[in-house]
Amino acid sequence: MPETESQFELDDVEELKRFLEFNETDIHILLNLHQYLKEDPAFFVDQFYHHLLNFEFSKSLIPDQATLTRLKKSQSHYFTSLTAGDYDEAYLRERFCIGRAHQQVGLEPRWYIGAYRKYLSLLIPHLFELSKTGEDDFLQAIESILKVVFLDIAIAMETYVDKNREAMVRRAAQLAALNEVAVTVNATLGVNETLNEVMKCAMNIVNAQASAIVLFDAESRSFTEKYSMGLSPHFVKNMSFRRGGLADEVFNENHYIVSNDLEGTKHQLSKLARDEGIVSFVCLPLVSHKRRLGVQYLYFHQRQELFEDEYALLGTLSHIATGAIGNAHLHTRAVTLSMTDELTNLFNRREFMVRLEQEMLRSRRSHKPLSLIMADIDHFKNINDSYGHPTGDLVLTELAQIFMNITRDIDIVARFGGEEFIFLLPGIDKQVAYRVAERIRQSVEQLQLRSNNKEPIHVSISMGISCFPKCAQDEDSLIKNADNALYRAKNQGRNQTVIFSES
Ligand code: GH3
Ligand code: MG
Ligand code: MG
Repeated sequence: MPETESQFELDDVEELKRFLEFNETDIHILLNLHQYLKEDPAFFVDQFYHHLLNFEFSKSLIPDQATLTRLKKSQSHYFTSLTAGDYDEAYLRERFCIGRAHQQVGLEPRWYIGAYRKYLSLLIPHLFELSKTGEDDFLQAIESILKVVFLDIAIAMETYVDKNREAMVRRAAQLAALNEVAVTVNATLGVNETLNEVMKCAMNIVNAQASAIVLFDAESRSFTEKYSMGLSPHFVKNMSFRRGGLADEVFNENHYIVSNDLEGTKHQLSKLARDEGIVSFVCLPLVSHKRRLGVQYLYFHQRQELFEDEYALLGTLSHIATGAIGNAHLHTRAVTLSMTDELTNLFNRREFMVRLEQEMLRSRRSHKPLSLIMADIDHFKNINDSYGHPTGDLVLTELAQIFMNITRDIDIVARFGGEEFIFLLPGIDKQVAYRVAERIRQSVEQLQLRSNNKEPIHVSISMGISCFPKCAQDEDSLIKNADNALYRAKNQGRNQTVIFSES
């Protein structure tokens, strides 16, 4: 988040003092008073706290005796130093923290002003007693006290307002970042893009230098996918997750864990993390409908204490993230379903046509051959008729498995129709394609399958090959000519491979 510069600065105090007409004479008078006031530093705080404890709000800020003693001590110092005559930088710096601290703990200015009212009410009769020499002295003392009190109040108010504005600016920036991520995440469907957005936004919100999201696989009960931003490949590669480790703890407690790597604390940094320059981290659960999706880490290069509102925002972000991860997974599933054949898990005809167009373009550009093999099961109808449709299905899945095993990763294998398969072999000419086809054909021939009543099932396939650019010039003729060659293979007695030729 952007740091907003404080508007009210130490330099402004000089002007404020001039405006309050707070001068050397006042300092002299205050110093005189101080001789008497410092003798009984508790005179004010004891009575003030007695008054304070009548109010529910102030009581809630003082939970125990130890807090009371501590607060009394610091307040006693605060009010005693008011008349000590030293209004140097150290004094002012201390005063500058008051408004900021009050804003942070939610103590509104009226309480601070109320404390000063009590101070003055108690002090004035005191001053009256001390001013034995006359009315002038008394009025002069009151004036000097008022000036120094108003100096304090002005500083406290200015710094309170500054801090408040800072908080609002931070909040606005946080909401803008959150809004941005919600919009982007809605527009992206891939898991990768979604998680990148989520990490970017979270880092932005809390000023983190790096982030990682690790997804949990319910089946293997382990953390499987890692996504990261701002981390070295070495760190990401070596991140590990133990059973019962930190990530597990975050899950089980369903609560974030912060580590500042302090000695004696439970969550220390690993050497790997320290070497990465990490000084502090936060780990948050990503849980959706009680389902564990993963954890998100935010890494800092300096010590980090997050504000409550930052945690609240990270929580909202986790919500967006978990929803988005779920959607992205659904989308991936839908895409996979639309591309593949349900029975064999091979590409379907539609996807094959898309790939064929891409590969054809690539071949044209690279001047490399592209071979296409069409395969059809011989007398498949007989298999269905003899052993039943489910056995026919089993044959289809067994053959798909053989096809996937024999072909390379870059080859495309699809179920083209009922018992027809089609192969696309980029960079391969017709002679090499023939050898591949023969290996496939022989593997099918050697497949040992048995029917339900243990009869061996013999399966064979016939194949036709065509090749770009030797025997076809475009997608359609590539398919048509392979089909043509396949037809010849069937006619010549089946269980064989034929390369297309014009004759
Ligand atoms: P040929 O050697 O000439 O190719 O003979 P064939 O019996 O294989 O050819 P035909 O085209 O006459 O029969 C194809 C059979 O494939 C008919 C159909 O019932 C079967 N078939 C198509 N799709 C499926 C499927 O998904 N599962 C099963 N079990 N059979 C299927
Ligand atoms: Mg057929
Ligand atoms: Mg057939």
